[in-house]
Amino acid sequence: MAQLIDGKKISTEIKEALKLEVAQLKEKGTDCVLAVIQVGEDPASKVYVRNKKRACEFIGIESISYELPEETTQEELLQIIDKLNADSKVKGILCQLPLPKHINEDTVIKRISPQKDVDGFHPENVGALVIGQKGFVSCTPFGIIQLLKKSNIEIDGKQCVIVGRSNIVGKPMALLMLRENATVTVCHSHTKNLKEITKTADILIVAIGKPKFINHEYVKDGAVVIDVGIHRQENNKLCGDVDFDSVLPKVSAITPVPGGVGPMTIAMLMHNCVEGSKNY
Ligand code: NDP
Repeated sequence: MAQLIDGKKISTEIKEALKLEVAQLKEKGTDCVLAVIQVGEDPASKVYVRNKKRACEFIGIESISYELPEETTQEELLQIIDKLNADSKVKGILCQLPLPKHINEDTVIKRISPQKDVDGFHPENVGALVIGQKGFVSCTPFGIIQLLKKSNIEIDGKQCVIVGRSNIVGKPMALLMLRENATVTVCHSHTKNLKEITKTADILIVAIGKPKFINHEYVKDGAVVIDVGIHRQENNKLCGDVDFDSVLPKVSAITPVPGGVGPMTIAMLMHNCVEGSKNY
């Protein structure tokens, strides 16, 4: 019987612990304040931002919202970031991606102070991760490490295959698994014989953005499968990048969608906000 990795339960435990930490910080006079910036009307972004604000409320982090119109210029956005960088009350700044096409995401990410970059996207934080120094780590891969550890899944010495090499999931995931002493292979759209490679994985992490792409043919018996993907199907239900029903009989553990990786991303964002407040 496969172990269902319960991201909802684990993320709730993490948020409960953070709630206590925030209360203690407040007693010592330190406020935890997160600034959340959204530009435009992207419906998925609105849902993500709403969920992040709810998590802040639950933990006791104050969130300041900037809901900016689609026509906002890059200069206007950068000015807001400059103001927030200089505001000692604000400990974390999050600019919800994607941004409208006329705004350069790299320029915006670089403008956020690395000390307030709770998403862990700033090149300084990414660089720190590469060389094993302290810094903010991208929330989704950071959450996956917590899921594995809290589910007592051994990482040290295991073969880990990651499908996807995005800057926010695949690449930081590879670095984190390396830090945990896994042997890591990263696959992408140019990878040849993908099935042969994924079948070597003790731990298979899938972040390709294609619904139900990975079926039982890609998975070895007893593998642990982590599904990062999230897609709304025609029947309005959510599914991942993994065909859950197809792989379930073969795996030793798996994350469901919803209720697996998704809730952990927000929990780790909250974790980063609290760490940012402590270090400030
Ligand atoms: P991207 O689109 O940025 O990256 C997808 C990656 O998958 C790329 O590296 C791409 O390769 C690779 N890829 C695409 N097709 C194939 C293929 N046929 N074979 C092998 N590799 C392939 O996606 P993200 O990393 O941002 O997100 C991935 C998924 O995770 C999405 O469904 C997204 O919604 C979800 N997500 C969920 C989060 C959560 O909290 N649950 C958070 C972030 C993302 P190449 O580089 O060559 O193009």
